Amino acid sequence: MSIANSIIRLLQQQAQEQHFRRVKHVWLQVGPLAMVEVESLRFCFTAACRGTLAEEAALDIISPEARARCQQCGEEQPVTSRFDACVHCGSYRLQLLQGDEMRVHELEVE
Ligand SMILES: [Zn+2]
Repeated sequence: MSIANSIIRLLQQQAQEQHFRRVKHVWLQVGPLAMVEVESLRFCFTAACRGTLAEEAALDIISPEARARCQQCGEEQPVTSRFDACVHCGSYRLQLLQGDEMRVHELEVE
């Protein structure tokens, strides 16, 4: 619930800065390692939107694959957890490039 509320606060803040009155469509980018339950976020978002500028906003959730770069051999690769080993050299020194983010990707406003 708090995640949904913080998204609404972000939208309200952007509405002030960019002078729009209504949010019609929100594209959220939620990485597979963001520890966010997408279905419950969807449910909470709808509830949190009530009575706000995003009251009837459609929500789309984009989930790009998680990717990491190995600090040992430099290879970039998809990963399924933070604790994967490098598929090329077996090192555990993988640096996550994307996959744990939760951010507003795009907005349609009026
Ligand atoms: Zn490696």
